[in-house]
Amino acid sequence: MMTTVKPCEFVNVNGTITEGAKASVSVFDRGFLFGEGVYETIRTYNRRPFLFDRHMARLRTSAARIDLTCPLSNEVIQARIDATIEAGFSVGDAYIRMLLTRGVGDISYDPKACSIPSFVIIAKPHSPVPLTLQTDGVMISLVSVVRNHPGSVDPAIKSNNLLNNALAMQQAFKEGTYEALMRNYRGDLTECSQSNFFIVRDGAALTPPLAAGLLEGVTRNFVFEIGTEIGLSVREATLRDGDLRTADEAFLTSTTREIVPIVRVGQVTIGAGSPGPVTQRLLAGLRRKADALTSA
Ligand code: PMP
Repeated sequence: MMTTVKPCEFVNVNGTITEGAKASVSVFDRGFLFGEGVYETIRTYNRRPFLFDRHMARLRTSAARIDLTCPLSNEVIQARIDATIEAGFSVGDAYIRMLLTRGVGDISYDPKACSIPSFVIIAKPHSPVPLTLQTDGVMISLVSVVRNHPGSVDPAIKSNNLLNNALAMQQAFKEGTYEALMRNYRGDLTECSQSNFFIVRDGAALTPPLAAGLLEGVTRNFVFEIGTEIGLSVREATLRDGDLRTADEAFLTSTTREIVPIVRVGQVTIGAGSPGPVTQRLLAGLRRKADALTSA
């Protein structure tokens, strides 16, 4: 007997929900034509979008940086997210990607040629980082692709224009590693293609400063707060290649990956080559706090 599997990837295009495979946007949408738009990736814990207000604040800031205004209130967006998740699956946590683009118009760079921005929400089941990666740590590549200069497409803008990130990650795929760490135009370490980067030295967690040219990760900021709560020093520091050799631990952070231990960067083994205690304490603290904030 044939069983029909309910598709669980659902998409909301300007308020209309369909299965993922049936969702479409116009080829004249500037998001498609030019990557002219901004986005956010959120996940739920206990089926509630986590740090929603922070992600919305960053979406609006990113939008303002490209002279775009999000026409929807946080309440409307939250309701659309909830409806899209409900349409797709009734149990388990969700991955949510929200995209705001300039909208449909003439093939022109003139913002005035598009009057209505497009707002798309993609919701699908959240895939946690496999346990073995958390227990063994991951290898990442130090790639030759340079992170965008803040004076061109500023990495602080979470833009749909992701070619810089995709090119970096292509090198990591070729090397069979989990992530791609990029330097900036000065040669300082910045961030990975989809996550922020930290090392741990002498008990303190250090991450490149925003001025290095990187995305102000919501998880990165959350890790600063957890550090304060559990009595660990977490702070910004300019990092260069040589700092990899003197690091005791390293890890990456992102909304969907939380905190993932890094045991090797390119040819350099980090510390003892296994996940360290500071990384593990921060991950435990993050999960505890995420659970507490979403289960009240
Ligand atoms: N840097 C880049 C380039 C990213 O794409 C992401 C993922 N959104 C991050 C950092 C991590 O940001 P967040 O913690 O807000 O998910």
